[in-house]
Amino acid sequence: MANTIFSALPTTIFEEMSGLARTLGAVNLGQGFPDDPGPEAVRVKAGELVVSGYNQYPPMAGLPELRQAVAAHYARTQGLDLDWASEVTVTSGATEALAASFLGLIEPGDEVVVFQPFYDAYPPLIRRAGGVPKFVRLEPPRWRFTRPMLEAAFTPRTKLVVLNNPMNPTGVVLPDEDLALLAEFCVAHDVIAVCDEVWEQVVFAGARHRPLVACPGMRERTVKIGSAGKMFGLTGWKVGWLCAAPALTHALARAHQFLTFTTPPNLQGAAAWGLENAGDWFRDMPRGLERSRDRLAAGLAREGFAVLPGDGTYFLSIDLAASGVAQADRAFCLRAVKDAGVAAIPVSAFYETDPVTSIVRLCFAKADETLDEGVRRLAWARELSRAAAI
Ligand code: PMP
Ligand code: GLN
Repeated sequence: MANTIFSALPTTIFEEMSGLARTLGAVNLGQGFPDDPGPEAVRVKAGELVVSGYNQYPPMAGLPELRQAVAAHYARTQGLDLDWASEVTVTSGATEALAASFLGLIEPGDEVVVFQPFYDAYPPLIRRAGGVPKFVRLEPPRWRFTRPMLEAAFTPRTKLVVLNNPMNPTGVVLPDEDLALLAEFCVAHDVIAVCDEVWEQVVFAGARHRPLVACPGMRERTVKIGSAGKMFGLTGWKVGWLCAAPALTHALARAHQFLTFTTPPNLQGAAAWGLENAGDWFRDMPRGLERSRDRLAAGLAREGFAVLPGDGTYFLSIDLAASGVAQADRAFCLRAVKDAGVAAIPVSAFYETDPVTSIVRLCFAKADETLDEGVRRLAWARELSRAAAI
């Protein structure tokens, strides 16, 4: 018999929607990946390293040059003082970093606070590691947590809290006071924070990403996770990293060594080169994406969709009920992809309990024509949904 934790799960919503989009030839505003091919110089560097570089197992903790580049990047951009040798571990994407965090830090029966909507990998990985997710339910349009919500979720058995900031799927970039509140709870309850910050570089004007690890009392109790895939818009690369104080890094590295052990050395080398040399990319990429967000938001608003605010990530959301759609998000998304030719993501897929069912996530990291066509098709999907309701 297969294990019940994983075998009972459906195919991820990303794979389901991208699969339907591929089969049906739909415009794909679902799964988060950009149309833009990513910084050419970084890709050229990776090519050079595949052809002329070292192609055997790199060190288990990652290439020193990437670990140094990660520490230097966070010193420059977030004012952090990480020791690359004892506090940075390279992983095969943020997904492996998450798995290593849960396997390395959870003992059976430990409680793990998880905000809903969550990134879909968290609950199954936490459970397989023996943890018990304790959900905090966030709601549109602001998706913010409050002191009473944290009071209800933290118990003497809480070992970890998982924070995704900037947040997928909502696009929220948390303000300082929310980070300070969560840090207060972590310190008071002696809890470790696993901070999934893969979207840290994709933040727009008016917002600023701040890492939880910089809050008072968090330096020794935070695992900060990053991803070159998101930083450089090369989502298939699966090069990520874990940053944590030495005692935590020791436990994380022990889990990592039995998950993937290493990550392709050429991609590590190219990511290191990019962190050191792609300053223009880090400046221009968010500007381009912000323009795309604004184009999609304006197109949707013109068509009468109610658009929720978002300050980061590749995503913005529409509120179906406020947009004149009487259907729930999943049913609407299935109709949209099958009958109107546009794929989107129902946000209820990121809840386990009492899901919010009126929000649909759209990826705007796309060419202008794709966004414009996507809007037309979403408007068509709404017409079909209205006609079916009559
Ligand atoms: N966490 C979040 C919040 C994400 O959005 C993603 C991918 N979009 C990941 C983790 C996975 O990152 P990676 O591709 O580096 O494994
Ligand atoms: N992180 C991507 C998104 O949110 C999808 C990653 C995946 O397909 N697992 O769209």
